[in-house]
Amino acid sequence: MFDALSERLGGIFDNLTGRGALSDKDVSEALREIRVALLEADVALPVVKDFIAKVKTRAVGEEVIRSVKPGQQVIKIVYDGLVDMLGGEDADTSLRIDSPPAVVMMAGLQGSGKTTTTGKLAKRLSEKGRKKVLLASLDVRRPAAMEQLAILADQCGDSVSSLPIIQGQLPADIARRALNAAKIGGYDVLFLDTAGRTSIDEQMMTEAAEIAEIAQPQETLLVADALTGQDAVETARRFHERLPLTGLVLTRMDGDGRGGAALSMRAVTGLPIKFLGVGEKLDGLDTFDAQRVAGRILGQGDIVSLVEKASEQMDAAKAERMAEKMRKGIFDLNDLAEQLKQMQQMGGLGGLMGMLPGARKAKQAMEAANLDDNVLKRQEAIISSMTKAERAKPALLNASRRKRIAAGSGTTVQDVNKLLKMHQQMAGMMKKMRTKGGMKNMLGMAQ
Ligand code: GDP
Repeated sequence: MFDALSERLGGIFDNLTGRGALSDKDVSEALREIRVALLEADVALPVVKDFIAKVKTRAVGEEVIRSVKPGQQVIKIVYDGLVDMLGGEDADTSLRIDSPPAVVMMAGLQGSGKTTTTGKLAKRLSEKGRKKVLLASLDVRRPAAMEQLAILADQCGDSVSSLPIIQGQLPADIARRALNAAKIGGYDVLFLDTAGRTSIDEQMMTEAAEIAEIAQPQETLLVADALTGQDAVETARRFHERLPLTGLVLTRMDGDGRGGAALSMRAVTGLPIKFLGVGEKLDGLDTFDAQRVAGRILGQGDIVSLVEKASEQMDAAKAERMAEKMRKGIFDLNDLAEQLKQMQQMGGLGGLMGMLPGARKAKQAMEAANLDDNVLKRQEAIISSMTKAERAKPALLNASRRKRIAAGSGTTVQDVNKLLKMHQQMAGMMKKMRTKGGMKNMLGMAQ
């Protein structure tokens, strides 16, 4: 999976990192090529558009890290964008199986790998999670499917059983019987393997919805074949309209697909991908990890970690400089500007100020000043309209200078005064913290 895409991206990245400086045109050209590569990998168009727009915004807004090449920084931004596309690094991939018997309902088209995945999950839960697991097949039209599940249960070992098959029962009745058996038998988890069809079919959907209603599953997983590309995405969307899906399993990730389904699935359905099927055997199941998949696609792990480190070092150096100034009781308007920028980047109040012990009051002062994004931007504009000397020594700011700054930043003298007052309060806090010995903690965080 992803081989062709990886190769294409590799070529684009080689081109980027081969140069020292990058012009806007170089970046736009690279993004255009990435866009084509993603579309050729069968990623859904809206997903590609959204991805490119986000990467562009980040590439423009990101602070330049001097110790790495611009091309390397772009690769890191693309990597971050891919991780986001796949659900983010903190995506919830665990199964909620906390109130025994927890019901996990498996849905999907026939041949998608539903039954095999049920067996894989049962094996994993019994071996790694030490759970007692019951499997029940609701596929009354295909006796072979029921037998297949029973065989899988046998292969999983002693902690996994399958519900005895009674011919002629309806799916809803089997679900009720399975629930009872799971309760009486003290099972932790009950898997309901529902019947699939070769294509979306109203009867199948109604049946699955009825079973979800009866069994009230904690997890309802859709199993989709990653090799079927956009069809898999469309299938997931249609299932999601009718069933309370909680997650996705993509099978045949070991196959030779373009990868578009895997890449679009999360963004189109909004559902987390929880597992990847990577083989026919019972141990062919991986927990989904957005970073690992993005890393595999880009194949630029070294560069990504290099840029991460450089950016951490830059932040640490900044924090150290800030701590040094505080140690000396200096907090000038340059520092305030830096704080405002950080707050904007973090999407709200926070930043270094928020993390400092004893700085709560200063933070409250900022909050009281009602700092929304626009206010932050205005304040940054005010500070950038000052001269270097004024920023370092706010005492210079007499009435006429304030007037000039207000005019230069498109604000009012009142706005300038407000900002200076806030700065004074913060600088006062810094001094107090210094004398109260809060310094040790502060320096601790800067290291
Ligand atoms: P169901 O009809 O949805 O229950 O599908 P099955 O579980 O019977 O799977 C159909 C076929 O796909 C079987 O031959 C499985 O061995 C195979 N299969 C399932 N998952 C994977 C996978 O992740 N990788 C590969 N290579 N084959 C798989």
